[in-house]
Amino acid sequence: MINRRTKIVCTIGPASNNADTIDALIAAGMDVARLNFSHGTHDDHRRAIGFIRDASRSRQKAVAILGDLCGPKIRVGRLSGAARDITRGEELVLFAGDASEDERVPVRYETLHRDLRVGDMIHLDDARIRLRVHAIQGEDVRVTVEEGGHLRNGVGVHLPSGNLQLDALTAKDKEDLAFGLGEGIDYVAVSFVRSPEDSKLVREICEAWGRPLPVCAKIETPQAIERLDAIVAASDAVMVARGDLGVEFPPELVPVLQRRVLESAAQHRRPAIVATEMLHSMVTSTRPTRAEASDVANAIFDGADATMLSGETASGSHPTLAVQMMARIVSAAESSSWWTPKVPPPYAPPAPFSESIARVAVQAAHDVGARLIAVFTQSGDTARLISKERPRVPVVAFSPNQGIRRRVGLYWGVQSRVLQPMRDADEMVDAVLANLLGAALVSPGDRIVLVYGAPIAVQGRTNTLRVVQVS
Ligand code: PGA
Ligand code: MN
Repeated sequence: MINRRTKIVCTIGPASNNADTIDALIAAGMDVARLNFSHGTHDDHRRAIGFIRDASRSRQKAVAILGDLCGPKIRVGRLSGAARDITRGEELVLFAGDASEDERVPVRYETLHRDLRVGDMIHLDDARIRLRVHAIQGEDVRVTVEEGGHLRNGVGVHLPSGNLQLDALTAKDKEDLAFGLGEGIDYVAVSFVRSPEDSKLVREICEAWGRPLPVCAKIETPQAIERLDAIVAASDAVMVARGDLGVEFPPELVPVLQRRVLESAAQHRRPAIVATEMLHSMVTSTRPTRAEASDVANAIFDGADATMLSGETASGSHPTLAVQMMARIVSAAESSSWWTPKVPPPYAPPAPFSESIARVAVQAAHDVGARLIAVFTQSGDTARLISKERPRVPVVAFSPNQGIRRRVGLYWGVQSRVLQPMRDADEMVDAVLANLLGAALVSPGDRIVLVYGAPIAVQGRTNTLRVVQVS
């Protein structure tokens, strides 16, 4: 039997941050837990990490933790009065500041009046409110309300990003990253990435801490779309962050851009997460809409490595049901006759050894009718490369390292097992076979494909493919 291949990422929040719910999410299929640093305190996140580690130990499932940095998100400051409704046609004054003492609206962005132009559109609260700049007088930015709504403290502000002067990491991001590294998170997600340097900067900070973590670039700005291939190549994973993408671009472009990001991720062999509003109505309802079920299935047909739940598991009324539902939709899509693995384009020679071996291993597994592909992986890289070739059989990654086991939890079609390092290849093959037989993942007579680096005592690159029949 082939298990679900596409992985499920769940955002942990007030609705799920307790031992029982986290255990239930893992039982329902959570592969990666996302901590959203835009919300909650470090104490909240520390508690979540404890619950995730405890439950994954008792369920013997390696669950990766993805720490998601807020990035340079601009917000409305503190209004002078209570939240208020603003209506179409009304005029407002915006200014750079943390708090207001009059009717004006403070925006937490220092150079507001300098970086805006007359005619620019400003979106508040995930584009629920739309404002158009009609005059800039000193530090006052005068706007006309084009789409009214409920104006509250702290809602997100989208300025036209062309002129923005923002550091990729805010002071809060650096604190959150330090916290996450100290607590042993497995992935870092970077919000509002605008250039490949943004991912590199985060990776360098992790390395300086002695914890070289994989970096997931969230694709949600026009600049990221412009430099997509370079950003994907410079990152270890990508997220189609449709929430903010759908603010920066009109709705009709979101599915098109999703497809484009997934193609780039396939080409660069990077895992891609499709995120936001996937089962949104399950925040309150016990069933998704038909359109939501179709959206999840189509993300899988488009080649997503993982699908993500946000508010559904963080603050919704039915977090566990949402994961169960997502797992069911994924499994139904994957086992349908419409699902055909999207095989990435071949490499332009000369390909690196491990890339070529991964490709050939998948071909060999299909040719000989292998039951599975076993890969002995030090960093998880070979498991990732095999995963991106979309084998029709399961991939079992063996590693002595729990951190690597959690990391490969994000990879499509990959499950992991612990194996102590061996001295030579024959010994390792025997140990892998005994392990797989012990777990009833293979039976005598099955063929399997093994991938590893030889000589195996030397930490080195994958260069070896072996086909064996289990006796
Ligand atoms: P966010 O990112 O939930 O942190 O905003 C995802 C998105 O924008 O879709
Ligand atoms: Mn976002």
